[in-house]
Amino acid sequence: MNLLRKLITQLETPREQRPLGSGWLSGSLALLAAITGMLIVLLRWFPETFSYPEIAFIQESGVVTIFLRFVLLSGYALSLLSLILSARKSLGWTALALSVIASLMATTQPELGTAPQSLYFGLDYFIINVLVVGFLFVPLERFFPHHGDQTVFREEWQEDMFYYLVSSMLVQILGFITLAPSNYINAQADLDGVRATIVALPFWVQVIVIMMATDFVQYWVHRAFHTFPALWRFHAIHHSTKKMDWLAGARMHFIEIAVLRSLTALPMFTLGFDPAAIQAYLLIVYFYSSFIHANIGWKFGFIERFFVTPRFHHWHHGSDRAAIDINYASHFPIYDWLFGTHHLPEKDWPENYGVVGNTVPKGYWKQFIYPFTKPKPTDPPQMPGE
Ligand SMILES: [Zn+2]
Ligand SMILES: [Zn+2]
Repeated sequence: MNLLRKLITQLETPREQRPLGSGWLSGSLALLAAITGMLIVLLRWFPETFSYPEIAFIQESGVVTIFLRFVLLSGYALSLLSLILSARKSLGWTALALSVIASLMATTQPELGTAPQSLYFGLDYFIINVLVVGFLFVPLERFFPHHGDQTVFREEWQEDMFYYLVSSMLVQILGFITLAPSNYINAQADLDGVRATIVALPFWVQVIVIMMATDFVQYWVHRAFHTFPALWRFHAIHHSTKKMDWLAGARMHFIEIAVLRSLTALPMFTLGFDPAAIQAYLLIVYFYSSFIHANIGWKFGFIERFFVTPRFHHWHHGSDRAAIDINYASHFPIYDWLFGTHHLPEKDWPENYGVVGNTVPKGYWKQFIYPFTKPKPTDPPQMPGE
């Protein structure tokens, strides 16, 4: 009911407090579109309860389907716009949630079959992501937390949820960017001999080899992002979170995602692995990257020497002196051993998280342009090691 009260307060914002561009109009229209869409979907789900047989021909003509798609897409786009523009998010999130539910109901409607998936962009993907990963990690974080006082809806969770939403929505575009360098190499290099050897390996060996190869590339790309000032300004966004949980890992600048994914994908897509092994790897990484950011206080004992754990990656996010420029690996700590950046005290966790000097602004769009802006003369040193 708290949400309902917030929603009503936001809807009733006095005119002078809601100039154009404040997200109020887009949010209100989004809510209107979402409710309209929901009603149409309900009409189609329960035709005998809600519709009059006299107007059934309208339903059958296909006009309603087109209108429904238009309404749902408007609800979706307008709620995103409102979330971007408005400081208060109740309206945007409610409209988005309603649009999502209505879209899901529309695609799973009995009898009339499914609407084309492509119309909903990556939205379906986002929902599945959040539901699956959230339902796995939220209970684990509640039962086995390292920071016991941290709540699910911690500070800036909406910002990180928005990061999650954006990267899920861009999954198709990102897929294209990600594959570009690999496609280039595939067209240029003659790797048939290597590929024949690799595809002959047992399935699980292939999965391990993919993990080793991608993490090796990831280690050096990640280290480069920490080493060069211009790159660090992109990567600082990922480090700006002060509360670690399963959602925190989603905070990453778009450019960094594109660079990191396309370079780490290079060995995966050029060395001729079995597509099933690649699928298995992607599934593992999908959970693993949320896991290492999660607020889970499990003790892993000797396993910590071989695999990256939450404690290991939390040290990477630490803002204290001992936690600067260490633990770059995301699967195998051995790379940090080999290249001299390993740091894992017996039992301790880092005290604080974040970027030294708090130079990164809050909010998705401010963070989006942050790497392209000049450092302020008053800012403390940008580089983590300084
Ligand atoms: Zn880092
Ligand atoms: Zn991280």
